[in-house]
Amino acid sequence: MRQGQHRVLQGHPWVFQGEFQDLPEDMAPGEIVQVADARGRLVGSGYANPASSILVRILTRGDREPDQEWAQERLRAAVAMRRQDLTDTADMRLVHAEADGLPGLVLERMAGYAVVSPDTLGAQEVLLPWLFDDIKALGPEGVVLRAVSPSRQHEGLGLELRMLAGDPPKGPVEVHEEGVVYLVDLLGGQKTGHYFDQRRNRARVGALSAGRRVLDVFSYTGGFALHAALGGASHVTAIDSSREALSALSRNAERNAASIEAREENAFDALRALSQARERFDMVVLDPPPFARGRGHLPAALRAYKEVNLRAMRLLPRGGILCTASCSHAVSGDDFLGAVRAAAADAGFSGRILGAYGADGDHPVRVEIPETDYLHCLMLEKE
Ligand code: SAH
Repeated sequence: MRQGQHRVLQGHPWVFQGEFQDLPEDMAPGEIVQVADARGRLVGSGYANPASSILVRILTRGDREPDQEWAQERLRAAVAMRRQDLTDTADMRLVHAEADGLPGLVLERMAGYAVVSPDTLGAQEVLLPWLFDDIKALGPEGVVLRAVSPSRQHEGLGLELRMLAGDPPKGPVEVHEEGVVYLVDLLGGQKTGHYFDQRRNRARVGALSAGRRVLDVFSYTGGFALHAALGGASHVTAIDSSREALSALSRNAERNAASIEAREENAFDALRALSQARERFDMVVLDPPPFARGRGHLPAALRAYKEVNLRAMRLLPRGGILCTASCSHAVSGDDFLGAVRAAAADAGFSGRILGAYGADGDHPVRVEIPETDYLHCLMLEKE
């Protein structure tokens, strides 16, 4: 590596193409390579992908070579940590990639199936073969390869969705989350899955919903709306631009005997129309997709967060609650709070921050990897 790669020396696993001084000419995709610092001292070993801007993801430090036994240790540690922290649910994320020391590899358990999502070439071709037998043991019903992340294109990989072991589920499976059941199509596309990271924040919304008119914007398959309905909301409206997500939402509402009004609309337009019509909601949830896909998109993303929050704030009466989230890796907690503050100033919104939350415990945050602290959720009460 060139001089001054403090981030990597302090434990961050990513080494970008431009950070290398000397490179061997014939580096094969998925090859395990050693990385040395500017003075030639060994830093560690990782897998390489010449097609990715992140040329090497470091797996082990010092002279320990990554091998199957090392990977199995990492997996065991990841599962053990969750057994301790999340004892009340079997459905969860078991491996959160870099945050669990297994770069690019995401593993979830849903209804007895192990669902594996390799986001990088190294995760797919190096880590997955090493861990396959252990993963099979974690998913007695079968193993699903659910490689549908758009980020795979940066690794030169296409999308893949198929069984790796066991029989395909006959229909949607049931994922349990704090008293709510979500029907998930394991072999369906991105629009019918389930995100575990907001688990605790959804429960927080559920606990504050009794008697309130709740609006869930960017509802997807009803993550928040269902918790609000089961928490005793007097009325729940969900808005999303995806028809597929909303039809999964209706199916979920039926399964949970919940009543939710679903509207297929662009969130920005819908919020403006609602405020022009002088509609009021006692609680608004905003959980948009990542507005910033990279650092370069930060200013535009912060404007979008400000705008959508401003429009939501206009719908809240005194005592109303706003639950607002950002899941953009490039947006820090401070950036996001800044955007929400700017929206509040313009909307004439004043009140208390009831809480500032992150992702639930199956999405660990590592101090040396800022990108793992990607989910920011603020709960505010208007005075
Ligand atoms: N709150 C959800 C997750 C939201 S994911 C949960 O708890 O499970 C983001 C959602 O925003 C997706 O369903 C996507 O279809 C929707 N979306 C993206 N852009 C949108 C827009 N401009 N208007 C409305 N919905 C949008």
